[in-house]
Amino acid sequence: MTSSHAMHARSLADPQGFWAEQAARIDWETPFERVLDDSHAPFARWFVGGRTNICHNAIDRHLPTRAQSRALVYVSTETGEERIYTYAQLHDEVVRMAAILQSLGVEKGDRVLIYMPMIPEALFAMLACTRIGAIHSVVFGGFASVSLAARIDDARPRVIVSADAGSRAGKVVPYKPLLDEAIRLASHQPEKVLLVDRQLSDMPRDAGRDEDYAAWRERVAGAEVPCVWLESNEPSYVLYTSGTTGKPKGVQRDTGGYAVALATSIEYIFCGKPGDTMFTASDIGWVVGHSYIVYAPLLAGMSTVMYEGTPVRPDGGILWKLVEQYGVNMLFTAPTAIRVLKKQDPALLRRHDLSSLRLLFLAGEPLDEPTARWIQDGIGKPVVDNYWQTESGWPIIAIQRGVEALPAKLGSPGVPAYGYDLRIVDEVTGEECPPGQKGVVAIDYPLPPGCMSTLWGDDDRFVRTYWTAVPNRRSYSTFDWGVRDEDGYVFILGRTDDVINVAGHRLGTREIEESLSSHNGVAEVAVVGVQDALKGQVAMGFCIARDAARTATPADRVALEGELMKTVDQQLGAVARPARVYFVNVLPKTRSGKLLRRAIQAVAEGRDPGDLTTIEDPTALEQIKAAMAE
Ligand code: AMP
Repeated sequence: MTSSHAMHARSLADPQGFWAEQAARIDWETPFERVLDDSHAPFARWFVGGRTNICHNAIDRHLPTRAQSRALVYVSTETGEERIYTYAQLHDEVVRMAAILQSLGVEKGDRVLIYMPMIPEALFAMLACTRIGAIHSVVFGGFASVSLAARIDDARPRVIVSADAGSRAGKVVPYKPLLDEAIRLASHQPEKVLLVDRQLSDMPRDAGRDEDYAAWRERVAGAEVPCVWLESNEPSYVLYTSGTTGKPKGVQRDTGGYAVALATSIEYIFCGKPGDTMFTASDIGWVVGHSYIVYAPLLAGMSTVMYEGTPVRPDGGILWKLVEQYGVNMLFTAPTAIRVLKKQDPALLRRHDLSSLRLLFLAGEPLDEPTARWIQDGIGKPVVDNYWQTESGWPIIAIQRGVEALPAKLGSPGVPAYGYDLRIVDEVTGEECPPGQKGVVAIDYPLPPGCMSTLWGDDDRFVRTYWTAVPNRRSYSTFDWGVRDEDGYVFILGRTDDVINVAGHRLGTREIEESLSSHNGVAEVAVVGVQDALKGQVAMGFCIARDAARTATPADRVALEGELMKTVDQQLGAVARPARVYFVNVLPKTRSGKLLRRAIQAVAEGRDPGDLTTIEDPTALEQIKAAMAE
């Protein structure tokens, strides 16, 4: 076994050789001519001229050897449903979905927006898109109509695939009314909406536009839909993520590079092999769901467990029960899920046979040491923290146990993964920081295969946002602070921008501010992320009311706060709802009018706000303290 250090060094010294070898993990209809085209930096094109198809590699390629092997296990503890698909059955469902999409007019390069709960049809839709060369854009079901409308207008989908409802913690969450409202708000209109009816909630239909999935599924039985071969750099999907402006960023992924990167990560990082079972307890609306519920396990010939439910229903042992029931070999979730379990009876950790489980992967937010230790001791399995982003598509930093089982250091996700020329750099000079000195986590050009190729429809914004933030070097900014120790382990120290992370969900404070400001009772608002023991961070809003009379008494304030929460719920979704909204008469700003979000955050977390020489009205911070103490 080579060392991670040696593999990392080789991947950077000879990227062409390294990635050409990895590319053999997938089928190519036409071999690539060049491994890397770096003639248009900061853009990088991998496997130029090669033609392949992700769906072929995830399904069809396995049919000769594993048609009858389990590909997908679907479990919902919300509806009590369980469905198991072999590779042959999955192939049939995906082909049918592809045939339906084609019948509805979808062609190569068209966008299909997927706004769905955790049901197999969502996964069929994603794979059907990649089969026919359509570009999917999955929008997390927790987002409401205004967020959804913004994504519809940006992606301009020809067809939207949705469902009547999801279910969360025993409560039916209707999707269709939010979708109808989003389409009403959007300027772009989809031609068709394909609806899966779970019969959880009434679903009014638009006669000319809405189509019934079950009826279509029967109609297209026996259809054959061959895979459309795409040039490696043609897009496979667009996944929106929050940035520092209100406008979400459409992270665009290519085809060949992504498939190769995922297949490689399964062996080197996740220690998976064909026939293994991977259970990623996340949502298809997030990047972890795209990569490790849907694509990577199937590309590797494994089976994937797709779960609708929470970690605590019917009880806090459900994740372990599923591990036992389906012989799960690797479980992947977010630290928040584990922190939730810490509040449950610890005996639940030992109630089930976990002998199949090899490793527990945690990502999406910082993993605190007590949680890491608690779960590692509780289940007696190694915990693998891994750091990455929507933009990267696969881990940037991890202990790559499939290469070398380096000892983990609690508090650090590990060392940079092969392919990433990761540097900790000074934010002002761009120079590399010595070990022990905090800097920006940056990745020198080029990003490895699988990472974002650009922002959908906005190359300029891609360059401006990610490639100019680090001065004096051709480097991609992760917008995270970090520090490296003498052994090369990286510790992540929080975001450099106004993005916050609530229970592993990435949210932009600006989007929440815009939503709160849209309420006619609000004159000014600041939203910051505040540390939270369970969720890592929560959003908190500080508002100046337009009319002081509306916040005169505690009862007035409670009423207005309730209205504001509802506004965010309706516009962005409950996922973005601030934990609290407080009222003040003035917000801390510089004399030039810039909001001092960091100072607000410090005060809200009970820390020293630091240098305040630029603050216009020093009483503003006192007001924040007082409002929170009330
Ligand atoms: P997202 O794009 O939603 O996956 O969010 C990515 C951001 O989550 C990163 O930029 C980090 O701020 C944070 N993050 C993800 N994984 C980790 C981790 N293992 N440790 C610390 N922070 C993380």
